[in-house]
Amino acid sequence: MSEQSFDVVVVGAGPAGYPTAIRAAQLGLSVACVDDWRNADGTRQFGGTCLNVGCIPSKALLESSELYHRAGSEFAAHGISVDGVGLDLDAMQKRKRGIVKQLTAGIEALLKSAGVTAIQARGRLLGERKVEVVGDDGTSRLLAAGHVVLATGSTPIELPVAPFDGERIVDSAGALEFSEVPARLGVIGAGVIGLELGSVWGRLGADVVLLEALDAFLPMVDEQVARDALKQFKRQGLDIRLGARVTGAEADGDSVAINYEAGGREERLEVDKLIVCVGRRPVTDGLLAAESGVELDDNGFIIVDESCRTSAPKVWAVGDVVRGPMLAHKGTEEGVMVAELIAGHAAEMNYATIPSVIYTAPEIAWVGQTEAEVKADGRDYKVGTFPFSANGRAKALQQAAGLVKLIADREYDEILGLHIVGPMAGELIAEAVLAMEFSASAEDLQRTIHAHPTLTEALHEAALSADKRAIHALNR
Ligand code: NAD
Repeated sequence: MSEQSFDVVVVGAGPAGYPTAIRAAQLGLSVACVDDWRNADGTRQFGGTCLNVGCIPSKALLESSELYHRAGSEFAAHGISVDGVGLDLDAMQKRKRGIVKQLTAGIEALLKSAGVTAIQARGRLLGERKVEVVGDDGTSRLLAAGHVVLATGSTPIELPVAPFDGERIVDSAGALEFSEVPARLGVIGAGVIGLELGSVWGRLGADVVLLEALDAFLPMVDEQVARDALKQFKRQGLDIRLGARVTGAEADGDSVAINYEAGGREERLEVDKLIVCVGRRPVTDGLLAAESGVELDDNGFIIVDESCRTSAPKVWAVGDVVRGPMLAHKGTEEGVMVAELIAGHAAEMNYATIPSVIYTAPEIAWVGQTEAEVKADGRDYKVGTFPFSANGRAKALQQAAGLVKLIADREYDEILGLHIVGPMAGELIAEAVLAMEFSASAEDLQRTIHAHPTLTEALHEAALSADKRAIHALNR
């Protein structure tokens, strides 16, 4: 078997793997990046879940569907009359595919221009940092690596009571490919994906029912923000049923019959399509030979320390395949950190300031601790809130619902968390992330000049409100 040597071999070219490879190459290391992504039609593309069937295509459809919905529901308030807003789903899907194609081709070009040897094949870690690469034609070769970085990502969890059939009962990838709008759409799991995809198809005309096993809505989100968001989603017509545990789902001809328990009663629901989005699991199938020395935890995640070192020397793992939130930007930063460490530089990652965004309308975004978490820590804290209904720019946008909430330590004034439900929350959160990265106080935000009229003023006012100094709201 032929053998080639590299300083670094990265397995996986998603948002954790490809930045690892590029940064390592920038630092003068010889790098190979092996990726096994295959589209439904068998073609290969770099970029992993994020670019091919995750963040990028979903954001494309979220944007298109929101514009469609707003044209029909909001334009009149602006004094714009549009007759018969039409939907061309083929064109919408084509635009989405075009964006994915451009960006995935961009990754390939970036890897190439960085000098990374990009290999589209299946990688398997043997002992002594040897990676076996098996090509489409079945031939295999060995890559000998100074360091190996595993970045194989995650895949949707399948519910045994509602197995995917790829047609009527689909995962998040399948739900991005509907060629017509289902009249009745069921969604199991009112988490991040359920809300985003439920929103897409709801805006395009589907009657959407989300079945969520937990009694609490978005338990990882600050309770006040989650409550506000739930109210807004319900007003939009999303039928979110909490405490609903699915016991079975069966596709029969043109429909899917779902049985679930709620409030101690057996319920039944019939839909045209069912999306199952109850979380994701790490992908390590066939990745690790017994002699690799890499250990997994009970949930199948590769065990790593705070610097992403696995139990095998000079083998690292980053992204969804290791502990921590399954977020593209978390994997990217872990990958860059690992590349720096391999090259002999000092590097660390601040897990406390990873922002989260749910791309619904309104968006939900947060960084740091929720009020419940701060309370559980026993800290003395203060809270400042500001509603978008008192923000001029939000009014002008016709999107004046939601709020900003800042939590700071009462004694030291340090910002502990910032939570937003409202327009462009995913963009606005960057200010809070930067502030927390620099260990800012609420006073720092108060003294920072914010342009008027902008949505960012709501963050400014929330910081002021923490000390009962808000100008545009009552200081209770
Ligand atoms: P999730 O964990 O966000 O939500 C899954 C939901 O399904 C949970 O609320 C859970 O209680 C519920 N559930 C589990 N079993 C159930 C059952 N039998 N019946 C009913 N409900 C059930 O998971 P997800 O939405 O599948 O997303 C997967 C991962 O991908 C998450 O880590 C998420 O953060 C990430 N992701 C992030 C973004 C983003 O950043 N905007 C977008 C998509 C996905």
